[in-house]
Amino acid sequence: MKSNNTFAFKKDQYRDVRGGHSRFLKITCEGCGAFLGIYQKDGPGHLRRMYIDRLHTSHIQVGKEASCPDCKRVIGTKIQYKKENRPAIRLYVDAVAKAIISANEANKHRI
Ligand SMILES: [Zn+2]
Repeated sequence: MKSNNTFAFKKDQYRDVRGGHSRFLKITCEGCGAFLGIYQKDGPGHLRRMYIDRLHTSHIQVGKEASCPDCKRVIGTKIQYKKENRPAIRLYVDAVAKAIISANEANKHRI
């Protein structure tokens, strides 16, 4: 029987304007190594901001700032990305580590 709880990419206009190519990133805290979440990165380029709607799983504490729940290190600032009127976390340099993972791997981190 096919599992119906596998992670699937969100497909919408945001993904389309970035070329329709996505991957899952496992996000960890650069300070303490804690698992922070699974993020869907659409399109090419560096990860400078994380859109809230693309966090499939998240332990990140988000207020005005975003921080690691374990070591409390601030990883970024909550912003409204004006071009798309879309809430996001603007990441500080070297705040998080990211690794590309498969949908199967992403599914193991489901909460
Ligand atoms: Zn941490």
